[in-house]
Amino acid sequence: MDCLFCKIIAGEIPSKKLYEDEDVYAFYDIEPQAPVHFLVVPKMHISGPDQIDEKSERVVGKIFSVIAMLAKELKLEKGYRVVTNCGEEGGQTVGHLHYHVLAGRNLSWPPG
Ligand code: 5GP
Ligand code: ZN
Repeated sequence: MDCLFCKIIAGEIPSKKLYEDEDVYAFYDIEPQAPVHFLVVPKMHISGPDQIDEKSERVVGKIFSVIAMLAKELKLEKGYRVVTNCGEEGGQTVGHLHYHVLAGRNLSWPPG
């Protein structure tokens, strides 16, 4: 399958890995939008948030506990933001479910 993040998970494309277990992979974004910006993805290919179903809800739940664990490890006690973009108008550019974690500056709300 021609999927960028599947290739990153498989190690075919290098990434700056933060965390990995049997279900989840986390790595730094190549174009950071904040002093801390990493992505947390399921190892199974799910094309986006609109494709989450009962088969994938366990791994999606796990992603959020991994995010909390990494936030503690990276000492993001001042706060952080978790974002997932969906579809063209939602700003999704990679067709493999991913959660952005942004931190290290004041993040504006609402997003543009
Ligand atoms: P989206 O726009 O789909 O919400 O997020 C995709 C993210 O993937 C973007 O923030 C982009 O910078 C990041 N990205 C795209 N290609 C690569 C890559 O090859 N390596 C890494 N580490 N991040 C990437
Ligand atoms: Zn994929």
